[in-house]
Amino acid sequence: MHFKEFKLDEKILRAIEQLGYTEPTEVQQKVIPVVLEKQDVLVKSKTGSGKTASFATPLCELVDWEENKPQALVLTPTRELAVQVQEDITNIGRYKRIKGLALYGKSPFARQKLALKQKTHVIVGTPGRVLDHIEKGTLDVSKMEYLVIDEADEMLNMGFLEQVESIIKLLPKARTTMLFSATLSDQIKKLSTKYMKQAVSIEIDASEENAPDIEHVKYVVVEELKLSLLEKLTIVENPDSCIIFCRTKERVEQLVDVLDEKGYTADKIHGGMMQEDRFEVMDDFRKGEFRYLIATDVAARGIDIDDITHVIHYDVPLEEESYVHRTGRTGRAGRSGKSIMLATPFEDKFVRGIESFIGFEISTASEPTKEEIVKSRAAFDVKMQEQPEAKKSKGEQLNANITKLYFNGGKKKKIRAVDFVGTIAKIEGITADDIGIITIQDTVSYVEILNGKGSLVLKNMRNTTVKGKLLKVHIANK
Ligand code: AMP
Repeated sequence: MHFKEFKLDEKILRAIEQLGYTEPTEVQQKVIPVVLEKQDVLVKSKTGSGKTASFATPLCELVDWEENKPQALVLTPTRELAVQVQEDITNIGRYKRIKGLALYGKSPFARQKLALKQKTHVIVGTPGRVLDHIEKGTLDVSKMEYLVIDEADEMLNMGFLEQVESIIKLLPKARTTMLFSATLSDQIKKLSTKYMKQAVSIEIDASEENAPDIEHVKYVVVEELKLSLLEKLTIVENPDSCIIFCRTKERVEQLVDVLDEKGYTADKIHGGMMQEDRFEVMDDFRKGEFRYLIATDVAARGIDIDDITHVIHYDVPLEEESYVHRTGRTGRAGRSGKSIMLATPFEDKFVRGIESFIGFEISTASEPTKEEIVKSRAAFDVKMQEQPEAKKSKGEQLNANITKLYFNGGKKKKIRAVDFVGTIAKIEGITADDIGIITIQDTVSYVEILNGKGSLVLKNMRNTTVKGKLLKVHIANK
């Protein structure tokens, strides 16, 4: 099957092609046609199945570009996921100039408020901050036609149910609602019957065929020997890219310091860090700037990073589901991966709980022998000295041909997006299709130029007026 069969706008198809998606995944095959018909859907599907694009694609297709008020709202449990989903939507909607905005807590409200004054098609956010904006009147929901509740089970686990319900009650009744969840508990089903209309139920079963190729092993070890076992395991496993999960942020801090000292390229992420730092660490890890990410469960959900070869549970997760989410960071997009759990002898009960949750016994391995370590040492030492291979970002090809231009005039000079489109599309060799997202602020504006035509537009705009005014123009910093 091909994406063309969904009868999508050529602009959406072009973006999908440039993202390298040749064939829709199972969840996409099932969800896209239903949402395009504006029917509600209740989808049981895990991250890694391509579920983001299964709602992002029809959303980008359905939203009306002309409408200034936001038309779609996506709720996610974490800030990282909000940013990621927003990026996926921006990538898919690039040629249709779909403007997405991520709203999440611990980031300046005022800046978000300003951004909300711009034309925005899709809002992606965490429930608390979204509700805050609606209640303060900074987010107008009167034109919201589409609602996506992503990772609904996690949203409930994190205690967001009340906020999610409050948001739903404030949205127009005539809308299409999509609910995605890895598990369909009674509570989720109740939520769907309460707020959805004749939802089409779609289950992507985790059959062998769909199951990622992940090898699971566990080691039984006393607390005092965990660190030395971890070292031995990293030597024999010699991972390219590895997440090590710990139970608390204190444990993360300790471990990252120790590993750092020992020469590992390691960094950390946990909920006690500033949001900017969290994003930066995830970005650097995504780019392959270091090999070992030490994390609490904040990094377990939804985070989509290719080529993570190993997940190590340095501490047994206390919740059975966490094991699945942590492990799901590896073996993505058809690749294989390995999950290694270190359990102390007293944690037998938790381990059995996890095994019954995942439906199989995790085989117990024995500590690497001296010979194995000696044999692996040289290759490990070489890799420790090497910079990890840079990972390509998903939207790279899509973004390669885009130049963002800065102009020193905006709302105060009464300049609107149409003024830029009108002026730039008149340049010889440029059409409206070469113009991407336009952002007009009070005193400055940003215009994306697509298809590698940035320098041509830049050259011309140096001596072309916009609404009778000659503006300063240069390539935007970011
Ligand atoms: P998700 O389940 O949304 O977290 O997506 C998992 C990964 O699959 C992401 O890296 C997507 O970019 C990628 N992906 C989504 N749809 C497709 C597709 N049709 N073909 C190839 N990769 C895809």
